[in-house]
Amino acid sequence: MRLILLGPPGAGKGTQAQFLMDKYNIVQLSTGDILRQAIANKTPTGLAAKEIMARGDLVSDEIVNAIISERLDEKDCENGFILDGFPRTIAQAEALGQMLAEKDMPLDAVVELKVEADILVKRILNRAKESGQARADDNEDVIRNRLNVYNEITQPLVEHYSALGLLKTVDGMGEIEQVKSEIKLALEG
Ligand code: ADP
Repeated sequence: MRLILLGPPGAGKGTQAQFLMDKYNIVQLSTGDILRQAIANKTPTGLAAKEIMARGDLVSDEIVNAIISERLDEKDCENGFILDGFPRTIAQAEALGQMLAEKDMPLDAVVELKVEADILVKRILNRAKESGQARADDNEDVIRNRLNVYNEITQPLVEHYSALGLLKTVDGMGEIEQVKSEIKLALEG
């Protein structure tokens, strides 16, 4: 199973990715996690990404495309994967399309989680408080910027994948279990 999880920050992509990993025995590829790891390791990519991420802006397509292309070649992706946080721009979606065609790994579906903006800000602030380890980009101004970036730059991917016949839209406002069953239904009918 090869999936994209699409949705704004705080929509619950990470939570639902966890259940999809177990269900289909596939890996989660989160560009946010990979970039945060690169920052922690002070790699050249991490150094280039640090300030950009702290502002809630997007890291360059070139960097994230390269990260994903390399990651897809690893053995654990053979059984399938969930892309979480990638693609985020039309250019990334096009690059991904090309990569997956070359690697002979066609997508099965794109699951869009829909959640209202006000709820997102609350969820992210709560998550930061409860985890006790706020991310550099988890303060209200930066969260609002991340949401704007999503609406302006990433939202058009919905239309892109709808046109490709891959889009499954799920209401992400309910309880975790509720959202889970809706995703199951969307993928299995
Ligand atoms: P969230 O979905 O909560 O915003 P992520 O962990 O997915 O969190 O991403 C955090 C930050 O990492 C983004 O705001 C952006 O700066 C950077 N990032 C992650 N994925 C991408 C991507 N595909 N393209 C560009 N930047 C990205």
